[in-house]
Order: sequence, then structure tokens, then C-alpha cells
Amino acid sequence: MSAADRPIFVIQKHAASSLHYDFRLEIDGVLVSWAVPKGPSTDPRVKRLAVRTEDHPLDYADFEGKIPKGEYGAGAVIVWDRGPYRNLMAEKKDALDMAQSLEAGHVEVWLEGEKLQGGFALIHAEPGGDEKNWLLVKIKDAEADARRNPVGTEPDSILSGKSVKDVAAGKDE
Ligand code: MN
Repeated sequence: MSAADRPIFVIQKHAASSLHYDFRLEIDGVLVSWAVPKGPSTDPRVKRLAVRTEDHPLDYADFEGKIPKGEYGAGAVIVWDRGPYRNLMAEKKDALDMAQSLEAGHVEVWLEGEKLQGGFALIHAEPGGDEKNWLLVKIKDAEADARRNPVGTEPDSILSGKSVKDVAAGKDE
């Protein structure tokens, strides 16, 4: 399978009324999405809240720019990380495809981004809480690293090098 045929993930850093990271996975032709207020961690001991949000069209994966005032999500968006991913649940005994993993509330993917690599799990929170709440956790593997903090040390766009502040200010370069 060539790189172009593989499904992608994208993480958009979004300075809306509160800053968050929109984690999106291409599944069956759409970007299934979660808003992660603190962004992903490469430390497998750290669980990050990931709130399921609306699916987005695939071509939104390239979007970087300003959502105008008055519109939902008004504020600057940059592409913080992106790349192909692999469904790790398909390699287990039950061999779940991505739609089945979502339905089961347990997604495991291998990311090949510029900032994030290796396995990440999205786990639907226990019943009784908010139905939209999931947890994003780094899987313990060779790419796990408790000392890295890419959200803090690599804050800018992988596409343009811009920060969310640059985009908010309308800077071209
Ligand atoms: Mn958002």
C-alpha cells in the first residue's frame, strides 16, 4: 500500500475561546474528531481528556487559517501534526476495523507524524460520565518518552512554521 492510499490523522491546534488540539482520524471517508484541551502527551502515564466532536470532511485536514468572529470555533487554526496511521486493533485477535473500534469505545492507532510517532489509544470513558468523554493515552512502546513534551517544545505548524498567534495576526510568513 503506498503512502497516498493510507488513512491519515491530523492534529489541528485551535486557539478558539479556549486553546485545544483537534485530534482527527480518517475513518470511512470522514475525519472523526476529538477536542483535546491539553494536547497529546508522549508519556504513557498521562491520560488526556479527549471530547468527541463532530466529524469533519476529509479536505479539512489541510485547513490552516482564521475562523471568523461570530462563527462556531472562531479563532486561529494551524496544522500541528499530520501523517498516515495504522489501525492496531486490526492486528489483534478480534481484528476490529476502525468503525468497530469506535463502536467498542477502544481505538488503538500507530501514528507516523512529524511530531508524534507510535501507538496511541483512545478509550471511551466509563458509563455514567459525559457520553462525549474519551481519554487519549500514549501506548507503552519504543516511541513513548516521558521526557518529551512536544506540545510545549514544538508549538508551531508543520505546514507553514506559523504559530497560532501568527495566523491570528494574519501574517503571511
Ligand atoms: Mn476546534
